[in-house]
Amino acid sequence: MKKLLMAANWKMYKTVEEGVATARELVSLLGTLPQDREVLVCPPFTMMHSVCPILAGKAGCHSGAQNFYPAAQGAFTGEVAPEQLLDLGCTYALAGHSERRHVLGEMDELIGRKVAFGLEAGLKMILCIGETSVERRLGQIEEVLVRQLESGLAGVLSTATAENLAVAYEPVWAIGTGDVAGPDEILAAHALVRSKLESLLPSEGAQIRILYGGSVKPDNAAAIIRLDNVDGVLVGGASLKASSFSQIVLA
Ligand code: PGA
Repeated sequence: MKKLLMAANWKMYKTVEEGVATARELVSLLGTLPQDREVLVCPPFTMMHSVCPILAGKAGCHSGAQNFYPAAQGAFTGEVAPEQLLDLGCTYALAGHSERRHVLGEMDELIGRKVAFGLEAGLKMILCIGETSVERRLGQIEEVLVRQLESGLAGVLSTATAENLAVAYEPVWAIGTGDVAGPDEILAAHALVRSKLESLLPSEGAQIRILYGGSVKPDNAAAIIRLDNVDGVLVGGASLKASSFSQIVLA
């Protein structure tokens, strides 16, 4: 059975002390996780050494990196390698988050290399994709999502499985804005992603989890995870407080 993946992205927030306190509160609020869901928390690098063990101690909880550099240890000033993340007990990583694409200028080609290198190194990868408001207005949603999927997955067509790959559909205009996508918008985008995954990865595409992200909150999470082809959520702002993220996880 496909488990829902309920993921938190703490972005560039929290001191070590705050991260540890939030992780401890979260695992205690979650109690025994329902069988049908898994939890993932992606903290900043600075606190992973302290936060990953707290999550690893809880059945069904995992930790992930928000970013990494697609190479083995080496002379890459300021970067972090997948093997260094695995060493911390981190098992997942994001690639292609909208803030990496639009604030840090990451291009499709680098994102594809991250997905391929991360998988090869043993991380489970979440490829994030999504259109901007301008692209939506211009009727380019399909073109953008297909391009981001094709380039993001180009290096993993023979190695990706439903176990080691997930896709997060995060419309850029919905991230951090409170402007959550409506059910019809989510249904249409997720159906498109599903059909593209099935054509790129015929044996795995139906089972690969597709998460929705963009202004997910405790009061809209239940309705979102009930939609067809929604296999979890990726939560930013509302994941910073253990009380609100635990409500989303248990929605
Ligand atoms: P948000 O962020 O929940 O604050 O909209 C989502 C994300 O960036 O993944």
